[in-house]
Amino acid sequence: MKLVDTHIHLYDEKYLDRLDEVLSDARYMGVEAIICVAEDYETSLSTLELASKIDFVYAAIGMHPWTALHSFDELDRVVELIRLENERIIAVGEVGLDKKYESGEKGYSRQIEAFKKMVELAIEFDKPLNIHSRRAARDVLEVLRVYNVEKAHFHWFTDDEDILREVVSMGYYVSFTPSITYSKRNQRLAKIVPLDQLLTETDGPVPFYGELKNVLTEPKHTKLVLTKLSEVHGIDEEELSEIIWRNFNRLYLR
Ligand SMILES: [Zn+2]
Repeated sequence: MKLVDTHIHLYDEKYLDRLDEVLSDARYMGVEAIICVAEDYETSLSTLELASKIDFVYAAIGMHPWTALHSFDELDRVVELIRLENERIIAVGEVGLDKKYESGEKGYSRQIEAFKKMVELAIEFDKPLNIHSRRAARDVLEVLRVYNVEKAHFHWFTDDEDILREVVSMGYYVSFTPSITYSKRNQRLAKIVPLDQLLTETDGPVPFYGELKNVLTEPKHTKLVLTKLSEVHGIDEEELSEIIWRNFNRLYLR
């Protein structure tokens, strides 16, 4: 069974001293591809380094909306890095908008400015966007529409059902985390996403409840996400893993 973790912060210090084990456990479970997503300049460098060292880790670099709030002046350096390293990345991410941590009008306008810059780069280098859209999916969609973006992936979608319907009608991809194992709301959302637009992720090291309570979130836990998604969609797990693997390839490796 082929598994893919399309969104994880693998450079996090929680993984540092046990990275070899985390990766071999992932392999053992069937994880064949991991997208490491960055948040700022430093983590973009770490992401590039991990991807160059580990054959099944792929790099997505960019400026996270939270970084736009506290270190907006990094934007130029991140932009420069994406230009310089565009051949070594498979996506621009983690980028987007966040209304939970908008920090007022000024903060939000900085997020929008940074996100637009990231979208422009994704278009220029023909890369998909790995998107964070907490409480802001509508605004994210608006930006994608303005730029006519074709390749986008909404990670851990938690916004409303009607917005999700718009997201999938635009042909964008959507991934779910281990929260789907216990969140009825996430399960309802996942059911809306057509099979050929579904992806799995962990967003590690973000902690979860349920089976993962007090456990470090790792790429191998995409298996839990796959199992629940197959239940929600009423499809054989093996078959769904093939579909999701093809989705990942279509969006990111083509
Ligand atoms: Zn993330």
